[in-house]
Amino acid sequence: MLRKLGVVTAGDLLYHVPHRYEDASTVAPIASLEPGMDGTIIGTVISKGVIPTRKGLRIFQAVVRDSSGMIEAAWPGQPFLDRSIEKGDTLLLSGSVRFFHGRQMVPREYVNLGSDVDGAVPGKVLSVYRATEGLSFKVIRGLIDAHLDVLLPLVKEYLPRDVLARARDSRGQGLPALEDALRMLHRPGSISEAMQGMSRLAFEELFFVHLLQRRARQISRSRRGGIAFENKRHLTTALKASLPFRLTDAQVRAIREIASDMFSPFRMNRLLQGDVGSGKTIVALFAALLAVENGFQAAIMAPTELLAEQHARTMERLFQPLGIRPVLVTGSLTARERREISDRLASNTPLIAVGTHALVQQDTKFGRLGFAAIDEQHRFGVEQRAALGAKGEWPDLLLMSATPIPRSLALTLYGEVDLSILDERPPGRKPVTTALRRETGRARVLDFLEEQIARGRQGYIVYPIIAESEKSDLKAATTMFESLKTGPFAARQVALLHGRIPADERDQIMRRFRDGDIDLLVATTVIEVGIDVANATVMVIEHPERFGLSQLHQLRGRVGRGADESFCVLLGDVSPDVEARLSVFVNTEDGFEIARADLKMRGMGDLFGERQSGVAMFRFADPLRDEELNVQAHEAAEKVLARDPELSRAEHAGVRKALRERYARALELFRVG
Ligand code: ADP
Ligand code: MG
Repeated sequence: MLRKLGVVTAGDLLYHVPHRYEDASTVAPIASLEPGMDGTIIGTVISKGVIPTRKGLRIFQAVVRDSSGMIEAAWPGQPFLDRSIEKGDTLLLSGSVRFFHGRQMVPREYVNLGSDVDGAVPGKVLSVYRATEGLSFKVIRGLIDAHLDVLLPLVKEYLPRDVLARARDSRGQGLPALEDALRMLHRPGSISEAMQGMSRLAFEELFFVHLLQRRARQISRSRRGGIAFENKRHLTTALKASLPFRLTDAQVRAIREIASDMFSPFRMNRLLQGDVGSGKTIVALFAALLAVENGFQAAIMAPTELLAEQHARTMERLFQPLGIRPVLVTGSLTARERREISDRLASNTPLIAVGTHALVQQDTKFGRLGFAAIDEQHRFGVEQRAALGAKGEWPDLLLMSATPIPRSLALTLYGEVDLSILDERPPGRKPVTTALRRETGRARVLDFLEEQIARGRQGYIVYPIIAESEKSDLKAATTMFESLKTGPFAARQVALLHGRIPADERDQIMRRFRDGDIDLLVATTVIEVGIDVANATVMVIEHPERFGLSQLHQLRGRVGRGADESFCVLLGDVSPDVEARLSVFVNTEDGFEIARADLKMRGMGDLFGERQSGVAMFRFADPLRDEELNVQAHEAAEKVLARDPELSRAEHAGVRKALRERYARALELFRVG
């Protein structure tokens, strides 16, 4: 049964640390609980049983008592608890209290402290361990308690002394040595002591992961032969001279990082990350020109035809003084155009191709592809990204992403790529006025939209779903489209856009919107991606509670791209909780801040998917919560490896051994000799 919890050795037992703590000072006397309150109590079961309801639901109920009084606890739909909770057991219960023939608690969580506790709170802080079927919390706690004093003195510190000495937790305190940390975790005198112990384990875990990733990057880079471009400069300098704006410092930095990768004989594999509107495109264009002036071909792949067209237009404008015209490669080419373009791509002529996934189709061959960029990279599958990278002569790769996340987190998530971040916006952009409006203000919001349209502007209204369903009372794009176009906007050009409309029709609609033939676009989140319509000034989002903050931020990024003031209105009656969540979005346009808030609320697994996020990689650390520790761990790992890339020095023997025991992969990365 212990094996099920991952506990096989005595060491595993030591590392089976509590997953949470209950602080006796927060335990309330049962008598003090009122309906509507949320509370934690400790009481002894004096009676229990399973009660069927008329609807066929079975409820496990127990009455618990402490010295102040008693209360009924009810677990709807969990009759099986009758087998694990006995009369005389002491329970720790957390949950909300309601009125149901008297006071009743519906526990969110419970811990069975067993029968020998007799209502007394065991110590000031109660360590709560992860348990499993057949192996109760009580038994695990007893087991650890019985062996802790024997095991702790056997623990040896393995972090290098200077690394440990330099690290600080979020309150600026030093980190405890391993033995102390484990004691603090299992038998804390206070919650804050337990947190101190946890900081140490979190730090060591982050440190190890950074060591492994850094080492993996080193090795894969040195194995990845690529093109060593030369610093020829004529095209890139000409572009710089003719740009209608000055590059931001962040853009200059990113271009330098990319150029330095491209000059090296190793193959570039770099992620360019920057908020909506931070100007990623131009950075990719400099890299593309660098390849072209070296006599190579460059390709930029975008997720939609429209976006590819937009990039092509940008290039036509910016490259005109250089005498370069991009080659547009999409699915809607005629057979003849396609043949012609295929021939050009397959030749050795230097050129810049921009297109959709048509670029990676089997029959698209490049004669001399030296650089490939993938815009909005998360929109492509792994295979498509890999396919572009496999064209030509193993081109240098640049992935572009608009999901802004903190650097240290990005480093933990995307361990295998190098990272450039645009953390600065081009100057002169006007803020988008953002507000949350209630249902009672609907008419005024729509009037405002009409006013903007009357002035020649355009707008979007976004819905969370395409069609209405019986299961929810959400407003849907299709139904609202009908009512908006026949009602308040009858005199306007209104169009509908959603994911079930075929891609070519969708592109057609977006083109008409771009060209100003459509005043109002009723849509779902399909408009989220990278499109730039400067004349659109209003974004109304219905049911804002249905969207993540980062998603709202992407949607808002569709307006505020021109010279006029722009607006984003969240429309709907939302609960106070949701309002609090949305207020982060309403009050800032900083994509990093929004992403951080979003990550904190929804968790990394939710945003990136369990596997991609590496959530599974961490037992003790939470790269978000432990952002500062993560930065320190990253720096410490860099420093250690810079001095001792193979970890072969004596002072690193402990780390090496621990790494090897914990991560099988490490064996391969740090080979002896
Ligand atoms: P994103 O990072 O979202 O892809 P884009 O590359 O589409 O952003 O750039 C958004 C807009 O900002 C474009 O119209 C672009 O021409 C403009 N832009 C880019 N860099 C600068 C700059 N340094 N100064 C002013 N405008 C810029
Ligand atoms: Mg873009």
